[in-house]
Amino acid sequence: MYNFDNELSKALKLSQKSYENEQNLRKQAKQLQKIINQKKLNEESEEKSYQTLINLMKWKEIFIRRGVGTGLQNLGNSCFMNATLQCLAYTAPFAQLLCQSNHSSHCATNGFCTLCEMEKVIPSMLMGKNIVKPRHLFKNLSKINDLLTAGCQEDSHEFIQSLLDKMENAYDDEQKNKKRRKDPQNPIRKLFTGSTKTCIQCARCKQRSVTEEPFCCISLEVDDNVCLGEALEIFTQNELMRGDDKYFCNECNRKCIAHKRLTFSDIPPILILHFKRFCVEFAASHHRQGSMKKLADHVEFPERLDFKALKHLIFEDDQQRVLIDSEYELYAVLVHSGPQLGYGHYYALIKSSDGYWFRMNDMDVIPVNTKHVLKEQGYMVFYKRKTDNLMKCHLRQIKAQHKKMNGVKMDEDMEQKEAQNVKVIDVKNEDKNENKQNGIKVDTDLLTTDYFANNCNVPQDIVMVDTMKKESSSEDVMLDKKSYVNVPPMATRPELNHNNNGNANANDDAVEIFWPVKQME
Ligand SMILES: [Zn+2]
Ligand SMILES: [Zn+2]
Repeated sequence: MYNFDNELSKALKLSQKSYENEQNLRKQAKQLQKIINQKKLNEESEEKSYQTLINLMKWKEIFIRRGVGTGLQNLGNSCFMNATLQCLAYTAPFAQLLCQSNHSSHCATNGFCTLCEMEKVIPSMLMGKNIVKPRHLFKNLSKINDLLTAGCQEDSHEFIQSLLDKMENAYDDEQKNKKRRKDPQNPIRKLFTGSTKTCIQCARCKQRSVTEEPFCCISLEVDDNVCLGEALEIFTQNELMRGDDKYFCNECNRKCIAHKRLTFSDIPPILILHFKRFCVEFAASHHRQGSMKKLADHVEFPERLDFKALKHLIFEDDQQRVLIDSEYELYAVLVHSGPQLGYGHYYALIKSSDGYWFRMNDMDVIPVNTKHVLKEQGYMVFYKRKTDNLMKCHLRQIKAQHKKMNGVKMDEDMEQKEAQNVKVIDVKNEDKNENKQNGIKVDTDLLTTDYFANNCNVPQDIVMVDTMKKESSSEDVMLDKKSYVNVPPMATRPELNHNNNGNANANDDAVEIFWPVKQME
Protein backbone atom coordinates (compact mmCIF):
# COMPACT_ATOMS: atom_id res chain seq x y z
CA MET A 1 0.00 0.00 0.00
CA TYR A 2 1.26 3.43 -0.89
CA ASN A 3 2.31 5.27 2.24
CA PHE A 4 1.47 8.82 1.34
CA ASP A 5 2.59 10.29 4.64
CA ASN A 6 5.92 8.60 4.41
CA GLU A 7 6.60 9.85 0.88
CA LEU A 8 5.49 13.35 1.81
CA SER A 9 7.81 13.54 4.79
CA LYS A 10 10.64 12.20 2.56
CA ALA A 11 9.93 14.86 -0.03
CA LEU A 12 9.73 17.53 2.64
CA LYS A 13 13.05 16.43 4.08
CA LEU A 14 14.62 16.54 0.63
CA SER A 15 13.31 19.97 -0.15
CA GLN A 16 14.36 21.11 3.30
CA LYS A 17 17.84 19.77 2.59
CA SER A 18 18.08 21.36 -0.83
CA TYR A 19 16.86 24.62 0.68
CA GLU A 20 19.56 24.40 3.33
CA ASN A 21 22.11 23.54 0.68
CA GLU A 22 21.08 26.48 -1.37
CA GLN A 23 21.27 28.75 1.62
CA ASN A 24 24.72 27.45 2.45
CA LEU A 25 25.91 27.97 -1.08
CA ARG A 26 24.55 31.48 -1.05
CA LYS A 27 26.35 32.13 2.22
CA GLN A 28 29.60 30.78 0.85
CA ALA A 29 29.25 32.82 -2.33
CA LYS A 30 28.65 35.93 -0.25
CA GLN A 31 31.71 35.25 1.86
CA LEU A 32 33.81 34.62 -1.23
CA GLN A 33 32.62 37.87 -2.75
CA LYS A 34 33.52 39.63 0.48
CA ILE A 35 37.02 38.14 0.45
CA ILE A 36 37.47 39.09 -3.20
CA ASN A 37 36.29 42.63 -2.54
CA GLN A 38 38.58 42.95 0.47
CA LYS A 39 41.50 41.62 -1.57
CA LYS A 40 40.78 44.08 -4.35
CA LEU A 41 40.56 46.86 -1.80
CA ASN A 42 43.88 45.85 -0.27
CA GLU A 43 45.47 45.63 -3.71
CA GLU A 44 44.13 49.02 -4.60
CA SER A 45 45.35 50.54 -1.35
CA GLU A 46 48.74 48.90 -1.79
CA GLU A 47 49.04 50.30 -5.30
CA LYS A 48 47.66 53.64 -4.24
CA SER A 49 49.98 54.02 -1.29
CA TYR A 50 53.03 53.35 -3.47
CA GLN A 51 51.81 55.72 -6.13
CA THR A 52 51.17 58.39 -3.50
CA LEU A 53 54.63 57.98 -2.03
CA ILE A 54 56.30 58.20 -5.44
CA ASN A 55 54.34 61.37 -6.19
CA LEU A 56 55.41 62.91 -2.88
CA MET A 57 59.15 62.42 -3.30
CA LYS A 58 59.57 65.68 -5.22
CA TRP A 59 58.23 69.05 -4.10
CA LYS A 60 54.99 70.01 -5.80
CA GLU A 61 54.67 73.34 -7.61
CA ILE A 62 52.66 74.96 -4.84
CA PHE A 63 55.50 74.43 -2.35
CA ILE A 64 58.16 75.49 -4.84
CA ARG A 65 56.24 78.70 -5.44
CA ARG A 66 55.98 79.35 -1.72
CA GLY A 67 59.70 78.84 -1.11
CA VAL A 68 60.98 78.84 2.42
CA GLY A 69 58.47 78.77 5.27
CA THR A 70 58.41 80.49 8.63
CA GLY A 71 60.49 80.33 11.77
CA LEU A 72 59.46 78.86 15.11
CA GLN A 73 59.20 80.68 18.39
CA ASN A 74 61.48 79.52 21.18
CA LEU A 75 59.20 78.41 23.98
CA GLY A 76 61.97 78.23 26.56
CA ASN A 77 64.72 75.70 25.83
CA SER A 78 62.74 74.42 22.90
CA CYS A 79 65.44 74.88 20.27
CA PHE A 80 66.13 71.12 20.20
CA MET A 81 62.50 70.62 19.16
CA ASN A 82 62.39 73.60 16.79
CA ALA A 83 65.53 72.53 14.92
CA THR A 84 64.21 68.98 14.57
CA LEU A 85 60.83 70.19 13.30
CA GLN A 86 62.54 72.36 10.70
CA CYS A 87 64.55 69.41 9.38
CA LEU A 88 61.36 67.34 9.13
CA ALA A 89 59.38 70.19 7.52
CA TYR A 90 61.85 70.22 4.61
CA THR A 91 61.74 66.46 4.19
CA ALA A 92 59.67 66.71 0.97
CA PRO A 93 57.75 63.39 1.05
CA PHE A 94 57.10 63.58 4.78
CA ALA A 95 55.95 67.21 4.81
CA GLN A 96 53.78 66.83 1.71
CA LEU A 97 52.26 63.69 3.19
CA LEU A 98 51.25 65.61 6.32
CA CYS A 99 49.89 68.48 4.22
CA GLN A 100 47.56 66.18 2.30
CA SER A 101 46.84 63.42 4.81
CA ASN A 102 43.63 63.34 6.74
CA HIS A 103 44.67 61.20 9.66
CA SER A 104 43.09 63.39 12.35
CA SER A 105 39.58 62.79 11.01
CA HIS A 106 39.83 59.05 11.71
CA CYS A 107 42.44 59.02 14.44
CA ALA A 108 42.04 56.14 16.87
CA THR A 109 44.21 57.59 19.64
CA ASN A 110 42.68 58.72 22.91
CA GLY A 111 44.12 61.97 24.20
CA PHE A 112 47.25 63.55 22.75
CA CYS A 113 48.27 62.22 19.34
CA THR A 114 51.67 63.16 17.92
CA LEU A 115 50.57 62.60 14.33
CA CYS A 116 47.43 64.76 14.70
CA GLU A 117 49.59 67.52 16.17
CA MET A 118 52.22 67.26 13.43
CA GLU A 119 49.44 67.43 10.86
CA LYS A 120 48.76 70.93 12.20
CA VAL A 121 52.34 72.11 12.83
CA ILE A 122 54.14 71.12 9.61
CA PRO A 123 51.68 72.68 7.10
CA SER A 124 51.62 75.94 9.06
CA MET A 125 55.42 76.01 9.12
CA LEU A 126 55.56 75.59 5.35
CA MET A 127 52.55 77.57 4.19
CA GLY A 128 51.70 79.91 7.07
CA LYS A 129 52.55 83.59 7.19
CA ASN A 130 53.26 83.97 10.89
CA ILE A 131 55.89 82.54 13.17
CA VAL A 132 54.67 79.18 14.42
CA LYS A 133 54.41 78.47 18.14
CA PRO A 134 54.18 74.71 18.60
CA ARG A 135 53.01 75.07 22.21
CA HIS A 136 50.72 72.06 22.30
CA LEU A 137 53.45 69.77 21.02
CA PHE A 138 55.95 71.23 23.50
CA LYS A 139 53.58 70.87 26.44
CA ASN A 140 53.05 67.22 25.61
CA LEU A 141 56.70 66.27 25.17
CA SER A 142 56.46 63.70 27.93
CA LYS A 143 53.72 61.94 25.93
CA ILE A 144 56.11 61.60 23.01
CA ASN A 145 58.86 60.27 25.25
CA ASP A 146 58.47 60.15 29.02
CA LEU A 147 62.16 61.02 29.45
CA LEU A 148 61.65 64.40 27.79
CA THR A 149 60.63 67.41 29.87
CA ALA A 150 59.40 70.74 28.53
CA GLY A 151 61.74 73.50 29.67
CA CYS A 152 64.88 71.36 29.81
CA GLN A 153 67.41 71.33 27.03
CA GLU A 154 66.93 67.88 25.56
CA ASP A 155 68.68 65.78 22.96
CA SER A 156 67.21 66.31 19.49
CA HIS A 157 68.37 62.85 18.41
CA GLU A 158 66.30 61.24 21.13
CA PHE A 159 63.41 63.52 20.26
CA ILE A 160 63.32 62.72 16.54
CA GLN A 161 63.41 58.99 17.18
CA SER A 162 60.46 59.12 19.57
CA LEU A 163 58.59 61.51 17.33
CA LEU A 164 58.87 59.26 14.27
CA ASP A 165 58.05 56.22 16.36
CA LYS A 166 54.88 57.79 17.77
CA MET A 167 53.74 58.94 14.34
CA GLU A 168 54.36 55.51 12.88
CA ASN A 169 52.28 53.94 15.65
CA ALA A 170 49.45 56.41 15.11
CA TYR A 171 49.28 55.35 11.44
CA ASP A 172 49.21 51.71 12.50
CA ASP A 173 46.48 52.35 15.07
CA GLU A 174 44.37 54.01 12.42
CA GLN A 175 44.37 50.65 10.58
CA LYS A 176 43.53 48.61 13.67
CA ASN A 177 39.87 48.19 12.72
CA LYS A 178 41.16 46.44 9.61
CA LYS A 179 42.91 43.99 11.95
CA ARG A 180 46.41 44.86 10.85
CA ARG A 181 48.69 45.68 13.70
CA LYS A 182 51.65 46.66 11.61
CA ASP A 183 50.28 48.21 8.48
CA PRO A 184 52.63 47.26 5.62
CA GLN A 185 51.61 50.44 3.82
CA ASN A 186 52.61 52.71 6.71
CA PRO A 187 54.14 55.68 4.86
CA ILE A 188 56.26 56.86 7.80
CA ARG A 189 57.88 53.44 8.05
CA LYS A 190 58.39 53.27 4.28
CA LEU A 191 60.12 56.65 4.25
CA PHE A 192 62.42 56.45 7.25
CA THR A 193 63.02 52.78 8.01
CA GLY A 194 65.90 50.84 6.56
CA SER A 195 67.60 47.72 7.81
CA THR A 196 71.01 46.37 8.67
CA LYS A 197 72.19 42.79 8.60
CA THR A 198 74.51 41.33 11.19
CA CYS A 199 76.48 38.43 9.85
CA ILE A 200 78.33 36.21 12.31
CA GLN A 201 80.67 33.60 10.89
CA CYS A 202 82.08 30.89 13.11
CA ALA A 203 85.85 30.77 12.66
CA ARG A 204 85.83 27.01 13.25
CA CYS A 205 83.12 25.64 10.96
CA LYS A 206 82.61 28.76 8.78
CA GLN A 207 78.85 28.52 9.30
CA ARG A 208 77.17 31.91 8.84
CA SER A 209 74.21 33.29 10.71
CA VAL A 210 72.51 36.44 9.45
CA THR A 211 70.01 38.55 11.37
CA GLU A 212 68.20 41.58 10.01
CA GLU A 213 67.36 44.58 12.14
CA PRO A 214 65.38 47.73 11.24
CA PHE A 215 66.68 51.26 11.85
CA CYS A 216 65.28 54.73 11.36
CA CYS A 217 68.44 56.65 12.21
CA ILE A 218 72.05 55.49 12.11
CA SER A 219 74.31 56.55 14.99
CA LEU A 220 77.92 56.90 13.96
CA GLU A 221 81.08 57.04 16.07
CA VAL A 222 83.04 60.15 15.16
CA ASP A 223 86.42 61.48 16.08
CA ASP A 224 88.92 64.15 15.19
CA ASN A 225 89.17 64.59 11.40
CA VAL A 226 86.79 61.81 10.56
CA CYS A 227 84.58 62.28 7.52
CA LEU A 228 81.17 60.76 6.94
CA GLY A 229 82.49 58.03 4.64
CA GLU A 230 85.02 56.96 7.26
CA ALA A 231 82.40 57.02 9.98
CA LEU A 232 80.29 54.69 7.86
CA GLU A 233 83.31 52.42 7.39
CA ILE A 234 83.82 52.29 11.16
CA PHE A 235 80.13 51.49 11.58
CA THR A 236 80.44 48.40 9.40
CA GLN A 237 83.87 47.30 10.59
CA ASN A 238 84.69 43.68 11.19
CA GLU A 239 84.62 42.66 14.83
CA LEU A 240 86.27 39.59 16.33
CA MET A 241 84.21 37.79 18.96
CA ARG A 242 86.58 36.18 21.37
CA GLY A 243 87.41 35.83 25.05
CA ASP A 244 84.32 36.54 27.13
CA ASP A 245 82.58 37.62 23.96
CA LYS A 246 82.87 34.24 22.21
CA TYR A 247 79.97 33.19 20.01
CA PHE A 248 77.89 30.10 20.71
CA CYS A 249 77.85 28.21 17.42
CA ASN A 250 74.91 25.85 17.00
CA GLU A 251 76.74 23.81 14.41
CA CYS A 252 79.79 23.23 16.62
CA ASN A 253 77.56 23.16 19.72
CA ARG A 254 80.09 25.15 21.71
CA LYS A 255 81.49 28.64 22.14
CA CYS A 256 83.75 29.61 19.25
CA ILE A 257 85.75 32.55 18.03
CA ALA A 258 83.70 34.28 15.32
CA HIS A 259 83.79 37.20 12.89
CA LYS A 260 80.96 39.66 13.19
CA ARG A 261 80.05 42.32 10.68
CA LEU A 262 77.21 44.80 10.41
CA THR A 263 76.23 45.93 6.90
CA PHE A 264 73.38 47.83 5.30
CA SER A 265 70.63 45.73 3.81
CA ASP A 266 68.07 48.36 2.99
CA ILE A 267 68.67 52.11 2.85
CA PRO A 268 65.47 54.13 3.26
CA PRO A 269 64.40 56.96 0.92
CA ILE A 270 65.15 59.37 3.78
CA LEU A 271 68.43 58.61 5.49
CA ILE A 272 69.12 60.25 8.84
CA LEU A 273 72.66 59.99 10.19
CA HIS A 274 73.52 60.97 13.74
CA PHE A 275 77.06 61.76 14.90
CA LYS A 276 77.76 60.55 18.42
CA ARG A 277 79.17 63.81 19.71
CA PHE A 278 78.18 63.24 23.31
CA CYS A 279 79.78 60.65 25.51
CA VAL A 280 80.21 60.10 29.22
CA GLU A 281 83.78 60.57 30.33
CA PHE A 282 85.20 59.28 33.61
CA ALA A 283 88.03 61.23 35.24
CA ALA A 284 89.58 57.98 36.44
CA SER A 285 88.60 54.36 36.03
CA HIS A 286 87.47 54.08 39.66
CA HIS A 287 85.23 57.15 39.44
CA ARG A 288 81.60 56.18 39.30
CA GLN A 289 80.20 59.48 38.23
CA GLY A 290 81.27 60.52 34.77
CA SER A 291 80.69 63.81 33.08
CA MET A 292 79.05 64.37 29.72
CA LYS A 293 81.69 65.31 27.19
CA LYS A 294 81.14 66.77 23.76
CA LEU A 295 83.26 66.16 20.71
CA ALA A 296 83.28 69.50 18.95
CA ASP A 297 85.45 68.60 15.95
CA HIS A 298 84.17 69.15 12.48
CA VAL A 299 82.87 66.05 10.80
CA GLU A 300 82.98 66.40 7.06
CA PHE A 301 79.79 65.45 5.27
CA PRO A 302 79.22 65.65 1.51
CA GLU A 303 76.43 67.34 -0.38
CA ARG A 304 76.10 64.18 -2.43
CA LEU A 305 76.42 60.72 -1.01
CA ASP A 306 76.77 57.89 -3.50
CA PHE A 307 76.62 54.36 -2.16
CA LYS A 308 78.23 53.06 -5.35
CA ALA A 309 81.52 54.20 -3.85
CA LEU A 310 80.51 52.57 -0.54
CA LYS A 311 79.30 49.33 -2.10
CA HIS A 312 81.29 47.24 0.37
CA LEU A 313 79.17 48.61 3.24
CA ILE A 314 76.11 46.87 1.83
CA PHE A 315 75.31 43.22 2.47
CA GLU A 316 76.52 41.27 -0.55
CA ASP A 317 73.18 39.74 -1.57
CA ASP A 318 71.47 43.13 -1.33
CA GLN A 319 74.03 45.22 -3.21
CA GLN A 320 72.40 44.99 -6.61
CA ARG A 321 68.99 46.03 -5.29
CA VAL A 322 70.25 48.84 -3.04
CA LEU A 323 72.43 50.34 -5.77
CA ILE A 324 69.47 50.82 -8.12
CA ASP A 325 68.98 54.10 -6.23
CA SER A 326 72.49 54.72 -4.99
CA GLU A 327 72.59 58.52 -4.92
CA TYR A 328 71.51 60.63 -1.97
CA GLU A 329 71.52 64.38 -1.54
CA LEU A 330 71.84 66.46 1.58
CA TYR A 331 68.78 68.57 2.38
CA ALA A 332 69.06 69.32 6.10
CA VAL A 333 71.68 69.59 8.80
CA LEU A 334 70.89 69.83 12.49
CA VAL A 335 73.59 71.67 14.41
CA HIS A 336 74.37 71.63 18.09
CA SER A 337 76.60 74.49 19.14
CA GLY A 338 78.01 74.89 22.59
CA PRO A 339 80.25 72.94 24.92
CA GLN A 340 77.73 70.54 26.47
CA LEU A 341 74.44 68.83 25.81
CA GLY A 342 72.56 70.78 28.47
CA TYR A 343 74.08 74.19 27.72
CA GLY A 344 74.15 74.40 23.98
CA HIS A 345 71.91 75.70 21.28
CA TYR A 346 70.35 73.86 18.38
CA TYR A 347 69.54 75.23 14.97
CA ALA A 348 68.89 73.74 11.57
CA LEU A 349 70.11 74.32 8.04
CA ILE A 350 67.59 73.33 5.46
CA LYS A 351 67.22 73.36 1.71
CA SER A 352 63.96 75.07 0.84
CA SER A 353 61.48 73.60 -1.63
CA ASP A 354 62.89 75.86 -4.34
CA GLY A 355 66.44 74.78 -3.68
CA TYR A 356 68.03 77.42 -1.46
CA TRP A 357 69.78 76.87 1.84
CA PHE A 358 68.55 78.66 4.96
CA ARG A 359 69.60 78.73 8.58
CA MET A 360 66.50 78.18 10.69
CA ASN A 361 67.46 79.47 14.10
CA ASP A 362 64.24 79.50 16.12
CA MET A 363 62.36 82.39 14.52
CA ASP A 364 65.19 83.65 12.34
CA VAL A 365 65.17 82.49 8.76
CA ILE A 366 68.47 83.41 7.18
CA PRO A 367 69.72 82.55 3.67
CA VAL A 368 73.15 80.92 3.61
CA ASN A 369 75.23 79.39 0.87
CA THR A 370 76.11 75.75 0.40
CA LYS A 371 79.74 76.26 1.34
CA HIS A 372 78.62 77.61 4.68
CA VAL A 373 76.30 74.65 5.27
CA LEU A 374 79.09 72.14 4.72
CA LYS A 375 81.28 73.95 7.26
CA GLU A 376 78.78 73.63 10.09
CA GLN A 377 79.22 71.40 13.12
CA GLY A 378 76.57 68.86 12.17
CA TYR A 379 74.96 66.72 14.84
CA MET A 380 72.47 65.05 12.50
CA VAL A 381 72.54 65.10 8.72
CA PHE A 382 69.54 64.35 6.53
CA TYR A 383 69.82 62.82 3.07
CA LYS A 384 67.12 62.16 0.49
CA ARG A 385 67.28 59.51 -2.21
CA LYS A 386 67.65 61.23 -5.56
CA THR A 387 65.84 58.68 -7.68
CA ASP A 388 62.81 56.51 -7.02
CA ASN A 389 63.49 53.60 -9.39
CA LEU A 390 63.18 51.08 -6.58
CA MET A 391 59.72 52.28 -5.58
CA LYS A 392 58.61 52.35 -9.22
CA CYS A 393 59.92 48.81 -9.71
CA HIS A 394 58.01 47.74 -6.65
CA LEU A 395 54.81 49.34 -7.88
CA ARG A 396 55.24 47.65 -11.26
CA GLN A 397 55.74 44.31 -9.54
CA ILE A 398 52.66 44.77 -7.38
CA LYS A 399 50.54 45.71 -10.38
CA ALA A 400 51.79 42.76 -12.40
CA GLN A 401 51.19 40.41 -9.49
CA HIS A 402 47.65 41.67 -8.97
CA LYS A 403 46.84 41.31 -12.65
CA LYS A 404 48.18 37.77 -12.64
CA MET A 405 46.15 36.90 -9.57
CA ASN A 406 43.06 38.37 -11.15
CA GLY A 407 43.44 36.04 -14.11
CA VAL A 408 44.92 38.46 -16.60
CA LYS A 409 47.84 36.95 -18.45
CA MET A 410 50.82 39.19 -18.65
CA ASP A 411 53.60 38.67 -21.08
CA GLU A 412 56.86 40.56 -21.18
CA ASP A 413 55.46 42.99 -23.69
CA MET A 414 52.53 43.92 -21.51
CA GLU A 415 54.73 44.32 -18.47
CA GLN A 416 56.79 46.77 -20.41
CA LYS A 417 53.68 48.67 -21.39
CA GLU A 418 52.76 48.67 -17.71
CA ALA A 419 56.09 50.23 -16.91
CA GLN A 420 55.43 53.01 -19.39
CA ASN A 421 51.97 53.48 -17.96
CA VAL A 422 53.45 54.22 -14.56
CA LYS A 423 55.02 57.33 -15.97
CA VAL A 424 51.88 58.45 -17.72
CA ILE A 425 49.76 57.95 -14.62
CA ASP A 426 52.36 59.88 -12.63
CA VAL A 427 51.96 63.01 -14.69
CA LYS A 428 48.19 62.80 -14.96
CA ASN A 429 47.67 62.27 -11.27
CA GLU A 430 49.94 65.08 -10.34
CA ASP A 431 48.12 67.48 -12.63
CA LYS A 432 44.73 66.40 -11.38
CA ASN A 433 45.67 66.61 -7.72
CA GLU A 434 47.18 70.00 -8.14
CA ASN A 435 44.11 71.39 -9.83
CA LYS A 436 41.77 69.84 -7.32
CA GLN A 437 43.66 70.89 -4.24
CA ASN A 438 44.48 74.41 -5.18
CA GLY A 439 41.86 75.24 -7.69
CA ILE A 440 44.53 77.02 -9.72
CA LYS A 441 46.69 76.10 -12.59
CA VAL A 442 50.30 76.72 -11.71
CA ASP A 443 51.95 78.99 -14.21
CA THR A 444 55.62 78.08 -14.33
CA ASP A 445 56.48 81.51 -15.75
CA LEU A 446 55.64 82.95 -12.37
CA LEU A 447 58.40 80.93 -10.76
CA THR A 448 61.22 83.19 -9.81
CA THR A 449 64.31 82.82 -7.74
CA ASP A 450 64.07 86.32 -6.39
CA TYR A 451 63.21 85.85 -2.77
CA PHE A 452 62.93 89.46 -1.85
CA ALA A 453 60.63 90.39 -4.67
CA ASN A 454 58.46 87.45 -3.71
CA ASN A 455 58.43 87.52 0.02
CA CYS A 456 59.44 90.91 1.37
CA ASN A 457 56.24 92.74 0.60
CA VAL A 458 55.98 94.20 4.07
CA PRO A 459 57.71 97.60 3.78
CA GLN A 460 59.14 97.64 7.32
CA ASP A 461 61.05 94.41 6.75
CA ILE A 462 64.72 95.18 6.64
CA VAL A 463 67.08 93.14 4.60
CA MET A 464 70.65 93.21 5.70
CA VAL A 465 73.31 92.30 3.24
CA ASP A 466 76.78 91.34 4.21
CA THR A 467 79.15 92.82 1.68
CA MET A 468 82.34 91.29 3.03
CA LYS A 469 84.72 89.60 0.67
CA LYS A 470 85.75 86.01 1.03
CA GLU A 471 89.07 86.66 2.82
CA SER A 472 87.43 88.36 5.77
CA SER A 473 84.41 86.11 6.13
CA SER A 474 85.77 83.87 8.83
CA GLU A 475 83.32 82.60 11.44
CA ASP A 476 83.92 85.30 14.05
CA VAL A 477 83.42 88.14 11.59
CA MET A 478 80.04 86.67 10.76
CA LEU A 479 78.81 87.67 14.18
CA ASP A 480 79.69 91.32 13.76
CA LYS A 481 76.44 92.75 12.54
CA LYS A 482 77.72 96.35 12.41
CA SER A 483 79.45 95.63 9.15
CA TYR A 484 76.20 94.86 7.41
CA VAL A 485 74.61 97.31 5.06
CA ASN A 486 70.89 97.90 5.04
CA VAL A 487 69.26 97.67 1.66
CA PRO A 488 65.64 98.17 0.66
CA PRO A 489 63.41 95.09 0.75
CA MET A 490 62.90 94.91 -2.96
CA ALA A 491 66.60 94.33 -3.54
CA THR A 492 67.45 91.61 -5.95
CA ARG A 493 68.80 88.53 -4.38
CA PRO A 494 72.50 88.10 -5.15
CA GLU A 495 73.43 84.82 -6.71
CA LEU A 496 74.04 82.27 -4.00
CA ASN A 497 75.96 79.11 -4.41
CA HIS A 498 73.29 76.61 -5.15
CA ASN A 499 74.93 75.01 -8.14
CA ASN A 500 74.89 71.34 -7.46
CA ASN A 501 78.43 70.29 -8.20
CA GLY A 502 79.68 71.64 -4.89
CA ASN A 503 82.40 73.55 -6.68
CA ALA A 504 83.65 75.96 -4.04
CA ASN A 505 85.76 78.05 -6.42
CA ALA A 506 82.79 79.10 -8.48
CA ASN A 507 81.54 81.12 -5.57
CA ASP A 508 84.46 83.13 -4.29
CA ASP A 509 82.63 86.44 -4.25
CA ALA A 510 79.43 85.11 -2.74
CA VAL A 511 77.79 87.28 -0.16
CA GLU A 512 75.79 86.24 2.84
CA ILE A 513 72.38 87.80 3.08
CA PHE A 514 70.51 88.18 6.29
CA TRP A 515 66.80 88.33 6.17
CA PRO A 516 65.36 88.69 9.66
CA VAL A 517 61.74 87.69 9.84
CA LYS A 518 59.92 90.19 12.03
CA GLN A 519 56.55 88.65 12.44
CA MET A 520 56.48 88.26 16.18
CA GLU A 521 53.22 89.10 17.81
ZN1 LIG B 1 45.96 61.08 15.64
ZN1 LIG C 1 80.94 26.59 14.28
